[in-house]
Amino acid sequence: MKIFSRLIQAFRKLPGVGPKQAERFALYVARAPEGELIELLDSISDVRSKIRLCPQCFNYTNSDLCEICADENRNHSIICVIESVQDLEAIEKTGFYKGVYHVLGGTFSPNMAVGVESIRLKELSQRVSNGSIKEIIIATNPSAEGETTAAYIKNMLEKKVEKISRIAFGVPLGGDLNYMDELTLTHALEGRRKL
Ligand SMILES: [Zn+2]
Repeated sequence: MKIFSRLIQAFRKLPGVGPKQAERFALYVARAPEGELIELLDSISDVRSKIRLCPQCFNYTNSDLCEICADENRNHSIICVIESVQDLEAIEKTGFYKGVYHVLGGTFSPNMAVGVESIRLKELSQRVSNGSIKEIIIATNPSAEGETTAAYIKNMLEKKVEKISRIAFGVPLGGDLNYMDELTLTHALEGRRKL
C-alpha cells in the first residue's frame, strides 16, 4: 500500500527508528483511537510553532529566556559549555550542576574543515565580556573535535575568565556525554580540572 509505505518512510527519518519500529508506528497510526492521534498531531504542531532558541544560552524555550537562564536560584557566574541541547539534558538529569549553560551547536574538526564561525563561539565571548563570569566549564565530548574546540575556547577566554575547567571523563576518548549514566557524569563534573 503506497500511503502506508509513505508513512513508514516518514517514521524512518526519526532518530533511532529502524524499519521494524517504523512499521509498528505506522500500524499504530492506522489503529489508534482518533483522540490519541489528534493529541499527537496537536502537540507536534504546538512544539513546532512555539519553540525557539534562548537568546542567551541557545537552549530550547517557548518564552523569552529559557527556564534555566530565567531561574534566579541558578548560579549565573558559572557557564557550562556543551555541544548540544541533548548534552544539556544529560547534565540536568544529574541534578548536580547549578550554573547556567552555553550550547555551541556543534564542534569544529581539527583540520578546521568545519569553520569556527559555524558554532556559537562569538556569542560565548560576548557573554563573558562584562566580567561577571567566574568559571567556564568546558563539557564538549571527549572526541578529537571536542578536544580541539575545548582548546580553542581556552585560548579565546583565558584572559577574560578567572577559571576555565574541563570536565574529567572517566571514559575512553570518543565517548559521548549524552550516553553517560548520571553518576559518571556527576563524577566528571565534580572532578573537572583547571585548564
Ligand atoms: Zn537560556
